Amino acid sequence: MRLRLPQERPAEPPTGYKIAYPVLSRNATGAGFTGVSLGGGAPYGALDDARCVYGRRHHPPARRCDCGFHCLHSLADALALTCAGQHRRAVVLEIGVLGSYIRYERGMRYARQRVRTVRVGSCACGRDAVRFADAGWGRPGWRVVAADCGGCALGGASVTFEEFEKLVGDGVKVTAERSGAVTDRTLPELMAEAALLQARLDWFEGQLARFPMPD
Ligand SMILES: [Zn+2]
Ligand SMILES: [Zn+2]
Repeated sequence: MRLRLPQERPAEPPTGYKIAYPVLSRNATGAGFTGVSLGGGAPYGALDDARCVYGRRHHPPARRCDCGFHCLHSLADALALTCAGQHRRAVVLEIGVLGSYIRYERGMRYARQRVRTVRVGSCACGRDAVRFADAGWGRPGWRVVAADCGGCALGGASVTFEEFEKLVGDGVKVTAERSGAVTDRTLPELMAEAALLQARLDWFEGQLARFPMPD
């Protein structure tokens, strides 16, 4: 008797989360993602099929192999991975699992995926990121790019998040985390702050007026 795993027939593609690095092609006319594991496999596009990393002639996810795309069920688990030192600069992808898949306790291994959103953290300096810029490493033909505030990575290739969305295509959305220092303030709070600044400026001008001005 053959033992078979239960078959699932979801009405909608299951959602998963994974960490990855965004990549730009050498001449910056294409974009995609690459895995974080050693080797990482070939970069993949927004909608792509997994290939067996060992070059075996089967379709991932094969039972007796560990090939295929991988994801976690929970966003929190994926975000937790970006705390690890070597993955600090990775982005978190929300993906739709397409084709056949094998379900595990914490995630899935599967044949085909659609990247829906890219969550970008802050620049390495701590400021909010406004673009992707050359991270200084890559894969053959592809440069890895990472979140940048616009002032830290100078000289290398860079793209705005909108440009990256266009290059990667297929309706992928990039969302950058915001520290919220200014945007979360209410209008009355901002007015109060402006009044305070004005009062300090008046005081400053008063102090300055006490000194004779050089001519
Ligand atoms: Zn395989
Ligand atoms: Zn920065």
